[in-house]
Amino acid sequence: MLAIPEGVRVLLERLEAAGYEAWCVGGCVRDALLGRTPEDWDVTTSALPEETMAVFGDQALPTGLKHGTVTVKTGDGPVEVTTYRLDGAYRDHRRPESVAFTASLEEDLARRDFTVNAMALDLRRELRDPFGGRADLARGLLRCVGDPDRRFQEDALRILRGMRFSAVLGLEMEAGTSAALARNRELLRKIAPERIQAELLKLLCGQHAKEALDGHVLAVAAFWPEVLPMVRFDQRNIHHCYDVWNHSTAALASTPPVPELRCAALLHDIGKPSTFTLDERGVGHFYGHAPVSVELADGMLRRLRFPNEFRERVTRLIAWHDRDIPRTDKGVRRVLRLLGEEELRLLLALKRADNLAQAPAYRGRQQEIARGEAILDRLLAEDACFSLKQLAVNGNDLKALGLRGPAVGRTLEALLNKVVDGELPNEREALLEFVTES
Ligand code: ATP
Ligand code: MG
Repeated sequence: MLAIPEGVRVLLERLEAAGYEAWCVGGCVRDALLGRTPEDWDVTTSALPEETMAVFGDQALPTGLKHGTVTVKTGDGPVEVTTYRLDGAYRDHRRPESVAFTASLEEDLARRDFTVNAMALDLRRELRDPFGGRADLARGLLRCVGDPDRRFQEDALRILRGMRFSAVLGLEMEAGTSAALARNRELLRKIAPERIQAELLKLLCGQHAKEALDGHVLAVAAFWPEVLPMVRFDQRNIHHCYDVWNHSTAALASTPPVPELRCAALLHDIGKPSTFTLDERGVGHFYGHAPVSVELADGMLRRLRFPNEFRERVTRLIAWHDRDIPRTDKGVRRVLRLLGEEELRLLLALKRADNLAQAPAYRGRQQEIARGEAILDRLLAEDACFSLKQLAVNGNDLKALGLRGPAVGRTLEALLNKVVDGELPNEREALLEFVTES
């Protein structure tokens, strides 16, 4: 088990010295038991929020007093300290109507979502685990605390959290939890899009995301019904060994866990069902599916309130996923100019994953992708010019030649195009000469 960081230990010691109980709780205990470094360490205590404030003085900030939370600055960063709490009745399948403080650690643990998240650990490494979270972790099981139907109905976000924990931690959903999740999946519609977005991103980046998505695709459809036509959609094409959904989640599983890339992998072919045609030989085609995928994905990402840059990157990757890999220096420079290095590398990763999720006989594409990437690496090593920033002249140079207003920008763009296409060297003299002569 991982050790509690020094800053958190000091915090626990100070609460105990003041006569209160204090425990690390939730995700950090689960992760410490798994030997994973926790994102953050949360503390639960018998001290009331104002008592915690008094213990830590100006080290403490009242960040969520209504819910009993005080944030304490420590040598290991800010730590949330929350008073033992009971949740009142739930309204709208979202949040408790009220919270009440309690003197009982066990009651606080009972309000938590999954057994693996309902453990507490103190300074002396005593573990409180009233729901068998440790045994579930050892068996690789994700199980609700208490009656799973009730727990998903209280707060429907737990449906997606459950899928997230199974995607990230590789936990299998215990049968009763899984069945209740399926029964209650439609309640996810009650949940604020921002909360769905946050859990979904973590889910998509999990090492076991494919299994979690495949296992509960109908829960995904509660907020993204657009995925349904992909499920069991037979592609009728020898390039493909999977239906559209399984192809998409297989592609996702072959990408590195970059959120935009994972999203693009999941949605790159979502336009396929509606663009399907069958030729006279009975072979399926999907002409023009990429722009349809872009349009659907754009709407789906907007609905979940993804930031604009995120949405634009995902939809650009989808728009480009089906284009050929450039095979020449000029071709690669052109794509670099349009996408930049970072995004071009994501595109190559998407194309690689897309191909890996096709029938094994068509994996020859991997070499084409590798050749494109080798050109990219060489061009970058040679400091090839593909952006205005790198151009050997700038706007002031052109103004010195007498250009004014929009002509400056237009000329810079034109010069860059010529450099990218290899028609002019990226050299100041040559570029300025070209401008004076034309
Ligand atoms: P992460 O590693 O992503 O931080 P986590 O388990 O710590 O995962 P948080 O969202 O940080 O998850 O929540 C901290 C703890 O609070 C959880 O471990 C769980 O005990 C409890 N919790 C959080 N959200 C809920 C919820 N919707 N219902 C019940 N308990 C919850
Ligand atoms: Mg956490």
